[in-house]
Amino acid sequence: MSDNHADLIVLGAGPGGYACAFRAADLGRNVVMVDPRATLGGVCLNVGCIPSKALLHAAEVIREARDGDNWGISTGKVSVDLNKLRAKKDSIVEQLTTGLVGLAKRRKVQTIRGTAQFTGDKSLDIDGEAWTFDQAVIAVASAPVRLPGWPEDDRIWDSTDVLEMREVPKKLAIVGGGIIGLEMATVYAALGSKVTVIEFMDQIAPGADNDAVAILNAALEAEGVTIHTNTKVTEVKATKAALTLSCEGGFEGKIKADVAIQAVGRRSNGHLVAPEAAGIEIDDRGVIPVNASCRANVDGIFAIGDVTGNPMLAHRATHQGHVAAEVASGHAAALDTTLIPSVAYTSPELAWAGLTQAQAKQQGVTHKVASFPWAASGRNLVSGGGDGLTKLVYCPETQRLLGATIVGRNAGELLAECVLAMEMGATLEDVSLAVHAHPTLSETVGFTAERALGTLTDL
Ligand code: NAD
Repeated sequence: MSDNHADLIVLGAGPGGYACAFRAADLGRNVVMVDPRATLGGVCLNVGCIPSKALLHAAEVIREARDGDNWGISTGKVSVDLNKLRAKKDSIVEQLTTGLVGLAKRRKVQTIRGTAQFTGDKSLDIDGEAWTFDQAVIAVASAPVRLPGWPEDDRIWDSTDVLEMREVPKKLAIVGGGIIGLEMATVYAALGSKVTVIEFMDQIAPGADNDAVAILNAALEAEGVTIHTNTKVTEVKATKAALTLSCEGGFEGKIKADVAIQAVGRRSNGHLVAPEAAGIEIDDRGVIPVNASCRANVDGIFAIGDVTGNPMLAHRATHQGHVAAEVASGHAAALDTTLIPSVAYTSPELAWAGLTQAQAKQQGVTHKVASFPWAASGRNLVSGGGDGLTKLVYCPETQRLLGATIVGRNAGELLAECVLAMEMGATLEDVSLAVHAHPTLSETVGFTAERALGTLTDL
């Protein structure tokens, strides 16, 4: 056994990796965690979920200040100091990443800054140093997909560049109307950019419920965002004056922009760890396949998070991290990945879990649908919320929830009740008879269940 030996080594210190390392340490294991980044927390804490949500909060503050006039509250013209905004965002990220250092130390998890690659099924190279291990967990995440044929240009941003807040471009083109594209459209439209979103599919947020998406689409357009669906960018030309995007499909023509963001999805990073040296199976999308216990095909090797494929979401990675730590430590654990909530932190937020109405239909699942429009929610009106909708898909025989979609203020928080209901196998009656405080937005979930049962008196 070499001097550099780990009982359990975790490759990657993001929400999947650190959750796994900490859970394993709590179960009494000697754990080493390795990551090339200078700070812990991976993409999510450093250049993903956390900084983007700080900017989305700032966007909400701008909108609240601007719309205060409707309530007789005038703040004057809102101005934004980009340096201060960037510093605030960075300070929150630093608070959380340094917090993780403390959590690792207290658990005696050894952290190493470096790039790990397998050299065998029980050995690794970390920046030129040989290591051996008993068990390994691969949590090396994903990277933004780059569209081929685009020029090399500083004015073309990816999801990391976009969070740097270098400038507020006058004209901003966003290619990809998925979660990143829509969140960044929300931020930059509030900061004053003229935003155009170009989406390949027939709706933004493809895969989400189309009634809910229509509400988000209208709200973005009301903020001045132009949305082109069914549209493909065929060519990008860079001149000193501007970027020019040639489009085909739903929109035919050229879009001039000062900055263009590529937000067309992410690709798993499996190839970065030299998996072939350990005999680990990997597909041509960089995905390392695992079973419900997060085991890869090689004994003692696990994989979690984005490197195991879709949905590439931090909370899925965290849960898989706990499962991998427990299974690696001799416990029985598994993750049913069918119920992973998705949230776009746009304005309004769009959140969903389980089956959408369209998916239920497509999959031939017997279902019914009930919804509650937020125009009838007192809480929504008194808090200045715009249009919103709560929609439940349920089984007419068992009356159990199959899926939920919520669009509106705080939809991401409200969805938790629906996820719990689905996890617990709750029926519409359970949800409707649980007393929801009045006036709250959470009432809309109870009202929707009542509507399905025919007991609703609020519409
Ligand atoms: P995404 O898969 O959510 O969206 C990509 C979008 O780009 C899709 O709508 C797709 O149809 C479109 N697209 C693909 N190729 C295109 C092309 N050539 N032209 C125009 N449109 C094209 O990916 P994303 O928004 O880049 O986000 C990456 C990952 O990060 C996703 O897995 C996402 O779930 C995750 N993420 C999650 C959150 C969150 O949970 N709030 C936030 C950011 C990112």
